[in-house]
This record gives sequence, C-alpha cells and structure tokens, in this order.
Amino acid sequence: MTSPSNKLYINGNWIPAADTFPIIDPATGDIVGDAADADADLALQAVEAAHAAFPAWSKTTAPRRSKLLYRWYELIMEHRDEIATLLTCEMGKPFPEAKGEVSFAANFVLWYAEEAKRIYGDTVPSNEPNKRITVLRQPVGVVAAITPWNFPAAMVTRKVAPALAAGCTVILKPAEQTPLTAIRLVELAAEAGFPPGVINLVTTSSPAEVGTVLTTDPRVRKVTFTGSTEVGKLLYRQAADTIKRISLELGGHAPFIVFEDADLDLAVQGVIASKYRNAGQTCICTNRVYVHESIAETFADKLGEAVSLLRVGHGMKEGVHIGPLIDEQALAKVERHVQDALQKGATLLTGGSREGDRGYFFQATVLNNATEEMQIATEETFGPVAPLFTFQTEDEVLARANNTPYGLAAYFFTRDIGRVTRMQEGLDYGIIGANDPAPSAAIQAPFGGFKESGLAREGGKYGLDAFLETKYISLAF
Ligand code: ADP
Repeated sequence: MTSPSNKLYINGNWIPAADTFPIIDPATGDIVGDAADADADLALQAVEAAHAAFPAWSKTTAPRRSKLLYRWYELIMEHRDEIATLLTCEMGKPFPEAKGEVSFAANFVLWYAEEAKRIYGDTVPSNEPNKRITVLRQPVGVVAAITPWNFPAAMVTRKVAPALAAGCTVILKPAEQTPLTAIRLVELAAEAGFPPGVINLVTTSSPAEVGTVLTTDPRVRKVTFTGSTEVGKLLYRQAADTIKRISLELGGHAPFIVFEDADLDLAVQGVIASKYRNAGQTCICTNRVYVHESIAETFADKLGEAVSLLRVGHGMKEGVHIGPLIDEQALAKVERHVQDALQKGATLLTGGSREGDRGYFFQATVLNNATEEMQIATEETFGPVAPLFTFQTEDEVLARANNTPYGLAAYFFTRDIGRVTRMQEGLDYGIIGANDPAPSAAIQAPFGGFKESGLAREGGKYGLDAFLETKYISLAF
C-alpha cells in the first residue's frame, strides 16, 4: 500500500497542518494511517486558492477539461487494487466490494470526461424581429464538496468530476473516518495535471469548524453534501445567508415490497443485495421489508436461511460478505434497534448479536413479525438487520411505504405489469427498483431523493446541472 501523505492539498501544494489525527481500521481498532487536521484558517486558504483558480479554469476549453478528467480516470483504474486496499482498511467493506466501488468511482470520472464536451446552451425564437435570445450554461463557481465515510471513493468522484467538467473549482472535505482514500484520489488528480487551485483537499477532525467556513464564505457558490439528514439540514441553513446553490444526498428509509406473485427466490436475493451490501450502511439500503401475508412464512424461511449463510469478517479475508460497522456508536445503534424490536414482539430468524471481541462486527440479522411501533420501522438502522412486516393489499402497503419523511429509494417485486405501473408512479421516492435491488449501480442515471432525503440529483447528465448556472442573453440589433 502506498503510504498516504498526511498533508492538505491547497493551491497545488501538499502542506502540513499543525496537527494530525489517526485513522482507525474498524475491523481491528488498529491505527492504519493519519491525516492532516485542518482548522478554519487552512479552510480559508483553500477557499482563496479555489477562488483564485476559478477564472482561468472556467475558461479552459471543454476538450482540455475532458482530457484531464480522462487521465485521472486512467490513473484511478491503474491503481484500483491499491486504492481498494486503502478503502477496506479505513472503512471495512469487503475487498471485492471495495474494488467494485473504485471502478464505480472511476466511471463517474470517465462519464464526466465525456459529458464535459456536451454542455450545450440554447437559442430561443424571439417575439421581436430585431432581437435574439441565447441561453448559456456557465460554471456556478467555487464548489465545496463534503463527503461521507460509507463510499470513500465514489462519493468523492460523483461530486468532484461533474464540478470539474462544468468548469468549477473544488474544495473537497472528506469524512474524518475515511480521508485516506480521498487523499490518494487527489494525489492521482494532481498527477493527472489539473492546474493549482482547481482541486483542493482539506481533511479535518473538526468538520463543524471547517464546514462553517465552507458554507458561509461568500466566495463558495455551491455546496454539495452527502451524509446524515441532521447535518444536511444544518448546512442548508448555514448556506442560506449567501444563497448558495446546494445539493443534498441525505438519509433514507427504503421499503422493499414483496407481492404475492413475485419470484420469491429473486426477491430473497434482492433483499440480500440491497440490505446487506456495505453491512447495511448505505442510504438506499432496505430498511423495511413488506411481505404479502399469503407468502410471509415461506419468504421468511427462505430469507432466514439465505442470510444465515452470510459470513462476517475482516474485509481483506477471502469469502467475507459483511465487514464491520464504522464505529462503536454505529454498532450500539444497531444493537438498540434489535433489542427494541425483540422487546416489542419481533422474533429472531437469524443473527441478532455482535460478533467477535475486536472491531465493530454485527451478525447478518433477520427479524420477523416487525411492527410500526418499533424504532427500526422509522429510524435509519444503517446496519445488517432486515425487519419483516406483513401486508394485505396494494393500497395499504403503498400508503405504509410512503408514510415517512424520507424519500430516497424504494423497491418492489411483482410480475404484474399493471401493479408495476401503479407502484412506480405511486411511491414518493426518487429512486425505484422495480424487480431490481441495485438501481444505484448506473452512473448514467439520476441519483437523489424526494422529501427530507435531499435536493438535486447526482449522476448522468443530471449531475452536471447542479454545477451550472443558466444565463439568458437578449441581443437587440
Ligand atoms: P454520518 O452520520 O453518516 O457520519 P455525517 O452527516 O455526520 O454522517 O457526515 C457526513 C459528512 O459531513 C462528513 O464529511 C462529516 O465530516 C461532515 N460533517 C459532519 N458535521 C458537519 C458540520 N457541522 N459541518 C460540515 N460538515 C460536517
């Protein structure tokens, strides 16, 4: 593994901070590296650098921006295994999943290398013979990108690549749990040849202090954030005073509905894919499994059996399906949800406890007979626990699925085309998996939520919009 530099990247230079903070392997509790601990002053320096670099970068031709992005993509792919190792060691996900994430991350860079060349404007017919209406799309300006620990690589590139493609300059602040992957990605961006100040990296163990600078400095024109709904709301408020553009990818509480006509084996595999990936730590992970009462018993048996085969362990060990949770707090929350459900009448089909005496492991768990009174029915668990609820009618389950402040992802399995149509239109969610447990794998599709799950979309052509202003020019002659 290349040892990551514990420095900040500001204006094309790697500079030290007065302090560093340790990075912990959640599978062992061991320190696997350290990162520079930026304060408000260093964050301000990064804002200054990004602001100074913006005029030239915004005027760089689209093919040039595209070429640099393409080079960055190639470098990430060349170093894929090394980055994935870093990712597993600081975050815990199994190595094959980490490799998958690095490819996914690289593909955002490739996509936006291509998309950079396709930022088109419009000419609009005028009402008057001596006037012409032109619509330009221009970069919004300096972007602050604040990313979470659950996808240490993909959330960086899903934000930074479209920002750079649009002609924006960026200050990246990765999560304090997982800065090593971000540092490596930025090292490779530097190697790709982006000019000084175009990408800046600020790692910190004081996100509130640095975040305040990034969300209040008037030179930052756009904040793009993925993380908890609580922090998202705070950043939204902080950014309001200077009317920054803001994209928010926040929490979810995804329903997964299994109708009586579904292919049950496919649905079981679907729950496994959407619930246990990343140890249940994704914002689109299934939180509530609704099963039609006529098939509930069969489905519960099949799911319980399949989940009991999932292996928990260190992400670098072969054959492991589920790594550790990110920290003790995350583990305690999962444990609390399971205890609360069991006290309120749920039954355990498999799992239910911590595993091992080192690291933050929790067994792959299935709870039967879940009810709406349980914490797990409304709070995001962010862990490998699937609660099974039963339902009787389509209208009832649709209403129950929508009865949440969240609106990120929803899944359903059925073979009835009429029901597919009604459900996909009726669910108040930004991402629908119709017989598909993995809709987020598509880099070209719009990813984002309704309601309190967020604002704006990432991915595909939609992801570029968030970094562009629309300028209307009226020319009279
Ligand atoms: P989680 O609960 O999943 O850890 P958070 O919302 O706390 O999610 O973290 C997501 C990102 O938000 C991380 O980069 C974290 O450092 C950052 N963050 C947390 N609190 C603040 C804050 N007050 N201001 C700016 N960024 C913050």
